[in-house]
Parts: sequence; structure tokens; C-alpha cells
Amino acid sequence: MRWGLIGASTIASEHMIGAIRAAGGEVASVLSSSTDRAESYAAEHDIPVGVSDLDALLDGDIDAVYISTTNEKHFAQAMAAIAAGKHVLCEKPLAMTVADAAAMVRAAADAGLTFGTNHHLRNAGSHLAMRDLVQSGRIGDVLSVRVFHAVYLPLHLQGWRIDNPEAGGGVIPDIAVHDADTVRFHLGEDPAEVVAMQTASGLGQGVEDSVMSVWAMPSGVQVLTHESFTHRFTSSGFEVHGTKGSIVAKNVMTQRPVGEITLRTEAGEEDIPFETHNLYARSLGLFHDAANGKGRPSADGVDGVKSLAVAAAVAKAAKSGQRTSVDYAG
Ligand code: NDP
Repeated sequence: MRWGLIGASTIASEHMIGAIRAAGGEVASVLSSSTDRAESYAAEHDIPVGVSDLDALLDGDIDAVYISTTNEKHFAQAMAAIAAGKHVLCEKPLAMTVADAAAMVRAAADAGLTFGTNHHLRNAGSHLAMRDLVQSGRIGDVLSVRVFHAVYLPLHLQGWRIDNPEAGGGVIPDIAVHDADTVRFHLGEDPAEVVAMQTASGLGQGVEDSVMSVWAMPSGVQVLTHESFTHRFTSSGFEVHGTKGSIVAKNVMTQRPVGEITLRTEAGEEDIPFETHNLYARSLGLFHDAANGKGRPSADGVDGVKSLAVAAAVAKAAKSGQRTSVDYAG
């Protein structure tokens, strides 16, 4: 599969170019808003073509695009790619509004194209192992989930994320969307209502850099989440507590295949082993298969619409102070 990169981004250079190649794809071209940057990025990453015009990229010999520009650009770029008949793997959050995200996903479905959302965590061996434990009944009926996703935003990413609401900055669009997807992945149901409080605790200028929220699941399961850009000295975690056991995972809300998982039941504590494959390469492999008519992307377009809907509800609840229903239709 031949890919065009829309966005000369950090995530593409740090993870996705390698993942596309590892999954047997070819990176044919890259788009930047600046011609100089398109050319230098292309040269640096051994990409044959660097352009600054979207139509030129879409006119090229490519089958799919990977969109990793800042968030406010995703919608128009995805719609153009779909109109040009390209499969789309789009970064999260899919768009600035749930309605735009739903329109992108509908357009791809109507055109018979594959649409994926780049939620990496559901590809992690750690999360796949935890999900198996939950779904095989090892912890009985689930009572609650606790998500610890307060991290320190690396210096080289402290740009638009911390000061540009128009580009989709803030920790809610950046991290809460991933947590929404991960919780949906584990529990197989969609959050119904949320309450939340947000703050700026040192990095955010005009956007929130920290948020805590509680989500009510239709089954009655309670979810507690904490996302932040400002926590230097803690590690991430994911816990699922049930009537017959608890899963306690440390350092698993990350881009790398690391962490540790402990299962606690009446029988005692057990370390749970898991696969340590590259998260993004797995996602790409499944996307290639789906575009070739086999299976579905790891996270599809509907998953991306739903994770955005939860994040939008968290943002709304944090601003209003009100218990807020998640509006999946936008
Ligand atoms: P970057 O800030 O690195 O890139 C976004 C845009 O900023 C690029 O498209 C580029 O514009 C411009 N840019 C980047 N670096 C430079 C530079 N040195 N000089 C000038 N312009 C630059 O963003 P990220 O890669 O961190 O994030 C991009 C998208 O990916 C976001 O939607 C984000 O939410 C998502 N993301 C997803 C992750 C995941 O694991 N799924 C992880 C990280 C990000 P241009 O293309 O015009 O050159």
C-alpha cells in the first residue's frame, strides 16, 4: 500500500513512518504547509516526494493518506482525501466537533473506503492481555475502572497543545480521547454521562492542562480518569476492579510496549505476561488488511467519533460544572 502523509509531524517521524514501513507499506509522499519544510522532511525521512499542495499529494500514485496535522485541519483534509478516493488513517481527535467527525466517517463509508482512527493503546500487548482477563471473566463482574494518565508533556511537544485552542490544544482533546477509546475497548460499552473538573496547573495558557472526570457506563460501572500534561514524577496506570478480582497495570498508558500487569484474586497475586510488539505497526498491519477487504482497522471511524464525543462531554461538563450526557450524534 502506498501512503501519502498529510502533515510533516512529530508523530509521523517518531512512530508512523517506521510503522508503515514495518507493516510492508511504502511512504510515497508528504505534505507540509511550507515547501521548504516538505522538501527537508522528505529528504530526512527518505520520502520520494514532498509537496505543499494537498491536490498535488492526492493526485499522486497513493492508495491511502495518514493525517497528522494539528486537529483543526483534519476535517477538510480527510474530506478532500475521501473525495479523491483514498483510504484514510486519521489522528485523534478526528475533528474539532463530533458532527464533523461523523461526517468524515460517513463520507468514507459512502465511498467504500477504509477509515481508521490512530488510537494506539488498544494495540498494546498490555491492553490486549487486560481485555482478555476482563472478557474471560477472571475478575467477575466489573465494578469500576481507574485511569491514571497524568504525564509530563515533553518539551518538544509544548507548542500548540498548551496555548492554541483553535488548533485543538488542551489535555482533553489530546489525552482524554485516548482514555475514552481505551475504556470503551475494555468494557465493550460507551460512557453515558460524565462529570468533570479541569484546571491549568503550570503549562496551559488559555487551555486546560489537567482534568479529572467520572464517567457512568450504561451497565452501572463507574470510571475515574485523570489526564494531565504537568506531572513530572508519577507513572501512568490502568486498573479494572471486579467482584472476583482486580487488574492493576502500571506504566501502560504509553506509546511504548512496556509496563507491568498484576492480577489479584482470592488465590493471590499473579504477574500477567503480554506481547511487546510495536503498537503502531500492529495498527498499520490491521489497516492494510482492512483496506484489502480483510477485517477492520484496530480503531475504525466510529470508534474515533465516539472517543471524541466522550472528550467533548468531559470538556462541556468541566466548563459547566454540570453532569453531562455524552452526545454521540454531535
Ligand atoms: P506536531 O506539532 O509535531 O505536528 C503538527 C504540525 O505542526 C505538522 O503537520 C507541521 O505542519 C507542524 N510542525 C511540526 N513540527 C514543526 C517544526 N519543527 N517546524 C514547523 N512546523 C512544524 O504535532 P504532533 O505530531 O505531536 O501531533 C499531530 C497530530 O497527531 C495531532 O492530531 C495529535 O493529536 C496526534 N497525535 C497522536 C498520537 C497518537 O499516539 N495517536 C501521538 C501524538 C500526536 P506542516 O505539516 O504544515 O509542516
